Amino acid sequence: MDLFSGQEDEKRTSIGNTEVLYKNAASILTEAKGFMGAYDYTLNPYSGCSFGCTYCYAAFFSRSEEQRKNWGHWLQVKQNALQLLMKFRKKSLLNKTIYMSSVTDPYQPIERQLKLTRSLIKELLIYHQPRLVIQTRSPIVTRDIDLLKRFKVIQVNMTITTDSEKVRKVFEPLCPSNASRLKAIQEVNEAGVNTCVTMTPLLPVENAEDFAKKLLDTGIKKFIIQPFHSDKGKFVASTRENAMRLVKEMNWTIDKYNEVLEVIRKYIPDIGIGKDGFSPI
Ligand code: SF4
Repeated sequence: MDLFSGQEDEKRTSIGNTEVLYKNAASILTEAKGFMGAYDYTLNPYSGCSFGCTYCYAAFFSRSEEQRKNWGHWLQVKQNALQLLMKFRKKSLLNKTIYMSSVTDPYQPIERQLKLTRSLIKELLIYHQPRLVIQTRSPIVTRDIDLLKRFKVIQVNMTITTDSEKVRKVFEPLCPSNASRLKAIQEVNEAGVNTCVTMTPLLPVENAEDFAKKLLDTGIKKFIIQPFHSDKGKFVASTRENAMRLVKEMNWTIDKYNEVLEVIRKYIPDIGIGKDGFSPI
């Protein structure tokens, strides 16, 4: 079964400034370890990421220096991902916790056309019913609500890092807008799917009070917040220098983060304080 059969002529080799390559992967489920230890497996349908957030730690898992430098400008489609996942039909993943995705966004712009992530979700739904966590910055996730709402245990996390389009364009110029992400996660939530907004990392905020109100207006009940790791820890090595420079230029300090956190906490007292940005289901 070839997911891409009949699409040969239509396979896009670029999207915006991102080069798209199609490759066979050696495996599709990776046993989760270290800071991902709360999960059993990670699942990455793509390598690279056309969103190219300046602070992305995943860039540091690139295979080459060139890929690391060009983060945001290359994307590899794991074209045999579904076939690889189908091999697990003999070994049930029932109740295993799967995190999708740890080093890419499963809802790349090209996903709209390829439906690769969708095919994997469908496979998991029909043959396994795992405990599924989806982490994205993309409104395309709403396309799959029909499948998502059929999981017994699921959480869709939408990362929204600021209330300011100006700030978003500085740190995440290739990502969907804040408003479109908020609207999308609200839609997922209203469909009855368990949701969470992850402010990981929280970027400079224009109006903390309004931001908190907007977050609550979505009807979502679960929120995780986390600062830039600028002192020590795993993410320091991985937080990209460019992002750290921008943080300094914007004078976004841990004290300012704490001030914003205090305001948000008045509205969302049980906000989760993320240690690593990954929200347990
Ligand atoms: S969307 Fe996620 S994986 Fe992609 S660049 Fe941003 S932080 Fe990295």
